[in-house]
Amino acid sequence: MNKNKYFQKLQANYFFTDIMTKGRKYAEAHPDTRVLSLGIGDVTRPLPQQVIAAMHNAVEDMAHEETFHGYCLEEGNPILRKAIIENDYLPRGINLQLDEVFVSDGAGSDLGNTSELFDKNNRVAVLDPVYPAYVDTSVMAGRAGELVGGKWSDIVYLPCVRENGFVPDLPRKKVDIIYLCFPNNPTGTTLTRPQLQRFVDYALRHDSIIIFDAAYETFIEGDDIPHSIYELEGAERVAIEIRSYSKTAGFTGVRCGYTIVPRQTGLQQMWHRRQCTKYNGTSYISQQGALATYTPEGKQQVRDNIMYYKHNARNILNSLQGMGFEVYGGIHSPYIWMRTPDGMSSWQFFDLLLEKCQVICTPGVGFGSAGEGYVRFTAFATHQTTDEALERMKRL
Ligand code: PLP
Repeated sequence: MNKNKYFQKLQANYFFTDIMTKGRKYAEAHPDTRVLSLGIGDVTRPLPQQVIAAMHNAVEDMAHEETFHGYCLEEGNPILRKAIIENDYLPRGINLQLDEVFVSDGAGSDLGNTSELFDKNNRVAVLDPVYPAYVDTSVMAGRAGELVGGKWSDIVYLPCVRENGFVPDLPRKKVDIIYLCFPNNPTGTTLTRPQLQRFVDYALRHDSIIIFDAAYETFIEGDDIPHSIYELEGAERVAIEIRSYSKTAGFTGVRCGYTIVPRQTGLQQMWHRRQCTKYNGTSYISQQGALATYTPEGKQQVRDNIMYYKHNARNILNSLQGMGFEVYGGIHSPYIWMRTPDGMSSWQFFDLLLEKCQVICTPGVGFGSAGEGYVRFTAFATHQTTDEALERMKRL
């Protein structure tokens, strides 16, 4: 047996595991202090009541012969897929067919799995900084080349930094797969319609595919910023969109999301084939929970949760600004991206904040080399943790 050599190129630890380990070690060494985390992007609000009720009912269904469910359809419950089309797309003028919607167990899996649809020799472009999964997935698939000075030799990096107003340039050399994530994790920034249209036009011109990660779509305020890539002309020919109920409705521990693979990409049948072979469908209970987010009460309860996190985001943004820091994001996103003071590195600031305030943030450099000199704060903690963490920073 030969191991997959590409896996061995990956750094031993996942970045977020390193942060958790540092925080845990600090807490163990200082048992009398309470370490507060504004670091990892996991949610803290309980599931909406409507979702809980639907999941209870689903469990009850499983208890009786007449209502028991075995395997679900690989592509997901048609009622949920219809609800997705009617609630998340039709109001924005986007017409999808039922067989273009695939229910998943969250965005994370499909971000990686969709890369199986493409030849190994395809060239990948990613934003820099960005959520690490796209790069790691490309490494595992053998598309990244060698790691040289913090960058993979075969990956095209598209800086998304203050110097370009967090609007990435188009790739200078031809790329085949473009991973876009907007609202962006970690910078919390978004693109306007014309800015995103340039990427769609590029993909149309170069026969590329865009994997559009819209995990934070629900945080977008108003209609000026595109909520879906399919709002843009021609995107249905060149884009796969990935969404999740994780940050929308608190499903990080439940697992449910969906992936749109339009027929016009020429990939829909391949993806269907792939799912039927390798994925035996999302859990019935999770899907029933997701369906409940589309009821009037469910929608309101989801909105309430988002407003809860948005309150934190504004609080972090205003407080950090008040302390004189340079900050970005936090409006259409649960993430606040902060420039470290006095030229400190991301990890130096992380250590300082942990040491002096017992607060955990996320070092920006973990999202790519263009994230060096920044840290990310998340709005997903409770009000109490957020307020106290900010108080400690103000005192410092
Ligand atoms: N995409 C982005 C940009 C994320 O930040 C995350 C999780 O933090 C995911 C995808 C994964 O989400 P899920 O829980 O749906 O797997």
